[in-house]
Amino acid sequence: MDEEREPLSFEEICTRWGEEPERYLGSVVPPIFQNSLFTAPSVGARSRRAGRYIYTRESNPTTDILNAKLAALEGAEDARCFASGMAAISAALMSQLRSGDHVVCVKHAYYPARALLQDYLSRFGVEVTFVRGDRVEDFEQALRPNTRVFYLESPTSINLWLQPLEQVCSLARSHGITTIIDNTWATPIFQRPMQLGVDIVVHSASKYLGGHSDVIAGVVCTSRQHVEAIHREMTLVGGILDPFAAWLILRGLRTLPTRLHQHQQNALKVAQWLEQHSAVHRVLYPGLPSHPQHELARRQMSGFSGLFSFTLKQNWREAAVGVVDALRMFHVGVSWGGYESLALPMLIDDYDGEQRWGLRVHIGLEPPERLIADMEQALRHAEDKGR
Ligand SMILES: *Cc1c(COP(=O)(O)O)cnc(C)c1O
Repeated sequence: MDEEREPLSFEEICTRWGEEPERYLGSVVPPIFQNSLFTAPSVGARSRRAGRYIYTRESNPTTDILNAKLAALEGAEDARCFASGMAAISAALMSQLRSGDHVVCVKHAYYPARALLQDYLSRFGVEVTFVRGDRVEDFEQALRPNTRVFYLESPTSINLWLQPLEQVCSLARSHGITTIIDNTWATPIFQRPMQLGVDIVVHSASKYLGGHSDVIAGVVCTSRQHVEAIHREMTLVGGILDPFAAWLILRGLRTLPTRLHQHQQNALKVAQWLEQHSAVHRVLYPGLPSHPQHELARRQMSGFSGLFSFTLKQNWREAAVGVVDALRMFHVGVSWGGYESLALPMLIDDYDGEQRWGLRVHIGLEPPERLIADMEQALRHAEDKGR
């Protein structure tokens, strides 16, 4: 890329950037190269050096367009897509770790990522320490001579806690430690961790990047220095993204900035409404001034997405289940980042260390007034039952 040019806007990246319609008969949408193999007219012309594709486990033109867009969105030098967020996370971790290494991981990170470290990579001699992570001192105290990776997720997706990224990354740098962050919650639209010093950014593209709850995918965005090792994980372990799934993510990306701003507007309205409701104990949304890390959130993020939690005054499981089951516009479901609103009963770690029952909600693209009205009747229903 030409360094002198104006920085690209998210909208430019998500629309035209990285595409060459003239290569593909002027097609305004890039074609899906749904083929395993690329052939050549002669043995000599066969190589990647001759500008050719060879085999889709290594590279594919449709997936390459997606790699370029996702790298540009994160302000990274390069990116590789994977068959799921977990494939991306495991590739990022395994590219950095060897037997005898130690990882410091945020204790509220996505559960399968923690299980990968604790129950799976432990079989290969990798050690892990879990920390709260809201203060840089947590990482400092967990340091060992063999610490190789800080695994971050900010904000986390159930408790919505943040890590002070600049401080944590500068600590990591001074000890030669690689930082990996799961940026699924904020997306690059609202947080660009590489500008804060993070080395490797991973996403579940199954959430906002895809945005329509119709595809499972993941991505690793990083520097030229690390991308070779990531590429090696991709081709040796083989968890590549299928070209059709890459095409679906490209399609979802067209509206990523627009969708995220709408999710933010809707979520803020619902969160503010919930905060003043008599049945609600606390709303955990970094976009609210009442969030204990709101100031940090505003420093390291430029906006807030649609996923958050709130706890109930009636602090027992049946109350939370009662509210969820009384909701009509919210589906019950574990994933998020699509157009639809979702709710789950959840035991939530509040910032002061207390555990309380509540709901995790994803605020979709439905009219927020309708979502609020639905929440109002569900909370009233649960309050009446609790009397
Ligand atoms: C869903 C999710 C993942 C895993 O992504 P998959 O695409 O389901 O493998 C990782 N991190 C977070 C925060 C998630 O929500």
